Amino acid sequence: MLAWRIRSKWARVTELEQRLARLRGPVPPRRHNARTIAALTGNPGCTRRAVLDSAGVDKQRIAAHVGFPAQSGQSRFAIARGNVFEAQVKADGAAELLRLLRERLGLPIPEVSYDDLDTPDAPDGPDGPEARHARSRELLTGAAGRADAAGLLFDHPLLRLDVAGQPVYLEPDLIALQVEGRFHVVEIKSFAVIDDQADPAKVSAAATQAAVYVLALRQLLTEAGHDPELVSHNVVLVCPRDFSNRPTAALLDVRKQLGTLRRQLSRMARIDALLDQVPEALSFDLAPDTAGAPTRTPAELAAALAAVEARYAPECLSACELAYFCRHEAAGATAALGKSVREELGGIESVEVVLALAAGDRTPTEEQAEAAALLRTAARLRAEALS
Ligand code: SF4
Repeated sequence: MLAWRIRSKWARVTELEQRLARLRGPVPPRRHNARTIAALTGNPGCTRRAVLDSAGVDKQRIAAHVGFPAQSGQSRFAIARGNVFEAQVKADGAAELLRLLRERLGLPIPEVSYDDLDTPDAPDGPDGPEARHARSRELLTGAAGRADAAGLLFDHPLLRLDVAGQPVYLEPDLIALQVEGRFHVVEIKSFAVIDDQADPAKVSAAATQAAVYVLALRQLLTEAGHDPELVSHNVVLVCPRDFSNRPTAALLDVRKQLGTLRRQLSRMARIDALLDQVPEALSFDLAPDTAGAPTRTPAELAAALAAVEARYAPECLSACELAYFCRHEAAGATAALGKSVREELGGIESVEVVLALAAGDRTPTEEQAEAAALLRTAARLRAEALS
């Protein structure tokens, strides 16, 4: 009976993987990172994004091919500056970072050993991430709860998190600090803190990304039978200070972000249930021809995108590579103007209907009556103000 159950579960997993591979086409899957997971949970109701991300489809290339290239992403200059800053903070066994942690944050850090878990020479084949994750798991779980041990810094641990029923490896760009038996996630960012103030949107994004790492570290400890609370909800954010390249640090409490992340991840439907809603033969195949251009036409890919339900909102512009395509597609829908507009319009879905109701050119239904009265009043006040 047990063997039958295992065989049946394995068959389902294989079937799911084959389906996702068919959706993606004969190209390697895109890897997630903390930024994409944080963004993914920002719009959990969007089936299109969940399907494409689960299949590892390259959304950036799709967006460019259908004529709506993404305009987000850091400039090469910003990326280079960020890399230089990170290297500086980690130089000499992270000496600068340790000084900050002791002086600015008062963390009781004794002598610290530094372990870089990045293994660039590991094979990047199917076993590559699993082997790197196993090494991270062995070292991190070995250090868990050792209150008597000296401090330990783990650079580049490769973590894993389940997203929409699929295990996702998180690219290693963090440091986990173990001190007095507890882990702290250290997030190094290159945006400046000027006069102890930083851009709230950037701090919020950094906190959400750090919360992804906290969650993944907690998952790793739980799987190994340790208390997940050994990973602190206080993360260390390190940024350049004022207009210099000298680092400063602050503790961020990410409990709120953890709650949101957990809630949104659990709300995401399991991917196999979502796949039931999309056509069996659907594919976002981006296989290139001999000149490197995708073999499928933009119209074919746009039709494939249209076959999966989307839920565009203005927040997509800063969180998803397909935002310009989806915004174009959603033109004329009140949802495209934002959640607050849609709610205030009491469920009227079309901008055309809103304008007709405001002008009194259309008789409202019973459900639209209240919103229609408000719209007519707003239109009258606007006309009076303009005259
Ligand atoms: S941009 Fe489109 S695909 Fe991406 S989350 Fe928004 S609606 Fe979904």
